[in-house]
Amino acid sequence: MTELDHYFGNDGFLLNSVSGFVVRAQQIAMARVVEQSIQENDVAFLEAGTGTGKTFAYLVPIFLSDKKTIISTGTKTLQDQLRFQDLPLLGKLFPKKRIALLKGRSNYLCPHRLQKHLKVLSTDKRTLARLVKVQSWALTTTTGDLGEVSEVDDRLLPFITSTKDNCLGSACPQFEICPLYTARQRAIEADVIVVNHHLLFADLSLKEESVAAILPSVEVVVVDEAHQIPEIARQFFGASINSRRFTDLIRDLRSEMFLLGNDDPQLLGLVAQLESAISRMVQLTFESTADYDHWFSIGGQHIVEDVDHCLADLMDMMHIVSVRSQGLESCRRRVEQLADDFVLFTEPTNLEEYIHWIDKSASGFNVHLSPINIADNLGQLFYREDTAWIFSSATLCVDGNFEHIKQALGVPDATEQRFASPFDFKTQVRACLPPNLPAPGNDAHTEQLVQAVLPLIRKNRGRTFFLFTSYRAMNLARELLHAESLPIFVQGSMTRQALLQAFRETQGSILLATHSFWQGVDVRGAALTCVIIDKLPFASPEEPLPKATMQAIEVAGGNGFVDYLLPHAIISLNQGFGRLIRSETDRGLFVLGDPRIRSRPYGNVVMASLPEMPWVDIEVAGQYLHEISEPEGD
Ligand code: SF4
Repeated sequence: MTELDHYFGNDGFLLNSVSGFVVRAQQIAMARVVEQSIQENDVAFLEAGTGTGKTFAYLVPIFLSDKKTIISTGTKTLQDQLRFQDLPLLGKLFPKKRIALLKGRSNYLCPHRLQKHLKVLSTDKRTLARLVKVQSWALTTTTGDLGEVSEVDDRLLPFITSTKDNCLGSACPQFEICPLYTARQRAIEADVIVVNHHLLFADLSLKEESVAAILPSVEVVVVDEAHQIPEIARQFFGASINSRRFTDLIRDLRSEMFLLGNDDPQLLGLVAQLESAISRMVQLTFESTADYDHWFSIGGQHIVEDVDHCLADLMDMMHIVSVRSQGLESCRRRVEQLADDFVLFTEPTNLEEYIHWIDKSASGFNVHLSPINIADNLGQLFYREDTAWIFSSATLCVDGNFEHIKQALGVPDATEQRFASPFDFKTQVRACLPPNLPAPGNDAHTEQLVQAVLPLIRKNRGRTFFLFTSYRAMNLARELLHAESLPIFVQGSMTRQALLQAFRETQGSILLATHSFWQGVDVRGAALTCVIIDKLPFASPEEPLPKATMQAIEVAGGNGFVDYLLPHAIISLNQGFGRLIRSETDRGLFVLGDPRIRSRPYGNVVMASLPEMPWVDIEVAGQYLHEISEPEGD
């Protein structure tokens, strides 16, 4: 009997101390592989089907190992869930372990900037009122995590958070009470640090460049929801520059001048020129596609030259005026850094090694220069003699093997193992493809799909997730279902947490949602017995990141569809399917509204990658829902 058996076994600590814990052979098998990978500093890919209990399967060996560990999750919500729900359950068994939660900089209040803007913005009453509310919260919070304040939105963030550029670090008068640095210090002291993938890869890309890193060195890294990694990683290798850096600098320069009496018309004039050039740049980005060359040729080049001249003039001016205040000195350094980084636009690109792409955001643009081959960079990070890397997810395999994820991460040799879901999909699920649907991706498809599934939804008395690949299809379905008497909840009408709570608590309801509800959502039991997916979730080849990734694959001699779009769609589809069955007693119907799984050659690969389950015609699907339906008044 090993130490793990004392925790996972039939009379183990977990069964005796965690309410609802179920002993599962797959879970202890996974825990053993994690334990061995930790001991041998291996790279391991572990696919743990829904219901395996993968979180405890990696947490227990981590705690037993006494090695400093980072656990990275897909989203901030999952990060909070791990920190405040799963880890406290184990905390009782490992009371001495120190656990820290660390998020990215923009999640923490910057008291210095809040105070500064409370002084400067005396004329903007609405913003001032919101800043005062944040200030009252700041007096009570113990973490400074802005997720605790509902008033905060993207427009307020620049006033109350710092960036790498404008943070004063240890020279800051508020450094001792700074929530960001307090959280980082706790992470340095902790045994287990919970982060999200964006922070992990921001840190890894910094380490790669030998710049001061955010996270302390650790001996074990567990990457949960690891299927998301290839996409996230590309954003952090290479270089990028975004419009927020310019708008923040312009705002801060104006604030500094306000505090000094607005007495330098020449500097204020240069700031206005820079602002005008950047707003033209944002405007052009919104009017163009993600294609950088196109953007450059339709007017981007002239604007780039204007911004470049403004930055050069501003640099000269800042050398003279920066002695007037600490704030202006900080702005001078930022102008210099921006001017350095702006060569991303002005220098020619080696197109054999790099790709340029533009990402539009709510507030402006983000221009990236990414290496075509990220797998080599990543592989070097993961093959280390002193660190174990464990990649886990319910969906890592495509067509039954790990080749796609291994290639994407540049790790050809690794431990790999699948742990089957304990659920019996052959008896717990029926699947259905509604007949005679047109090719998807247009309104006619959505209309006919809604018409086809409506009898199923009625027979099921709601209890349905209707998941879409686009907002357009979701909104059209909302209009088409408008007259139904069942309660309908739609993504965007309230926060994600509130929507899920409303769905769980409102008997017989329907949730209409897009991608963010395809994963990380757990609704057990009779509240959810039908999941409908409108079409195979192929990324649009016109979106910047898929386009850049496909270009990279094709430049390297691969096939963008086969090597990227298809595996990516299969993994997303499996994530969506995974919402249906969340326990051994759940039963349900899975509907896929995409006739291409029968008509296209790749349909076989898609079918082979889904769990084995009976596919039935729509009449049998209706009867099945009737059979599994709880009686009225349940
Ligand atoms: S150290 Fe940086 S983040 Fe912290 S309060 Fe100061 S400026 Fe803000």
